[in-house]
Amino acid sequence: MTASNKGTALVTGASTGIGEIYADRLADRGYDLILVARRKEALEAVAKKITDRTGRKVEVLRADLSLREDIAAVEQRLATDGSITLLVNNAGISLAGSFLDNDSAKIEQLLTINITAPTLLSAVAAKAFKARNAGGIINIASVLAFGPEMFDGIYSGSKAHLVNITHSLAAQLKGTNVRVQVVAPGATRTEIWEKSGKDIDTLLPGKVMETADLVDAALRGYDMGELVTIPPLHDESLYLAYEKARMAMLPNLSNKDVAERYRG
Ligand code: NAP
Repeated sequence: MTASNKGTALVTGASTGIGEIYADRLADRGYDLILVARRKEALEAVAKKITDRTGRKVEVLRADLSLREDIAAVEQRLATDGSITLLVNNAGISLAGSFLDNDSAKIEQLLTINITAPTLLSAVAAKAFKARNAGGIINIASVLAFGPEMFDGIYSGSKAHLVNITHSLAAQLKGTNVRVQVVAPGATRTEIWEKSGKDIDTLLPGKVMETADLVDAALRGYDMGELVTIPPLHDESLYLAYEKARMAMLPNLSNKDVAERYRG
């Protein structure tokens, strides 16, 4: 494979927002593309724009990732298409409100799109990439993974899941040439806010990142070999201290004896 042909990147949620910019930037980096989302016309418009500009091959794969059969179709593609070298699990939704404001159907829809789909797609891609000893998986989480008290806790939990499985995948793929990264954007100017009934500017004045800045920073983090990339966090030592405390706790989490403070 030459520098200008990096294989094919499959990007979910590529019809707008962060996924659209990923598709654009990955084409510039020499990837052909498979763009996944529900809105076929929007995907085709993104595909045309990218092909016209870069000459890269861009395919549209319509899938509703809240439906098990559509997730299976994308899994099948990842399992059987040997040209795919990068998976970007970007599709995601947020809710208007949280636990007390949504019915079971709405909550389950979020869990399927934000957890089931990226988990199953990561698993299939990891197996295929490991067998070829090459490839990459990028999971788009959120800074809310670290802040369940802020905004919607169900959304936050779904993003914590992505941080968790990316750490786990990294451990299991250690020693291979397969790369994994989880990206934690803060508030980023996309349609997701309006779709979940929030006005980003009144909620978070002065704290909103532009989508292109977010994606360019995240890809720089990928180039740097980072496992966890948090583009809005200026003081990296805060995350490093958090991670150090977590790692220090790990060897102490299983014990025959009950901790002193719980003894009767
Ligand atoms: P967005 O502008 O609303 O785009 C979401 C994308 O996901 C769209 O392409 C949408 O396409 C797709 N999608 C939604 N439901 C889908 C479904 N059922 N099946 C397939 N695709 C579906 O949101 P965004 O801000 O770019 O979000 C991208 C990712 O970044 C998400 O995982 C989000 O949680 C995360 N994130 C965003 C922010 C932020 O402030 N924007 C912050 C942290 C994390 P269709 O509608 O065509 O299906």
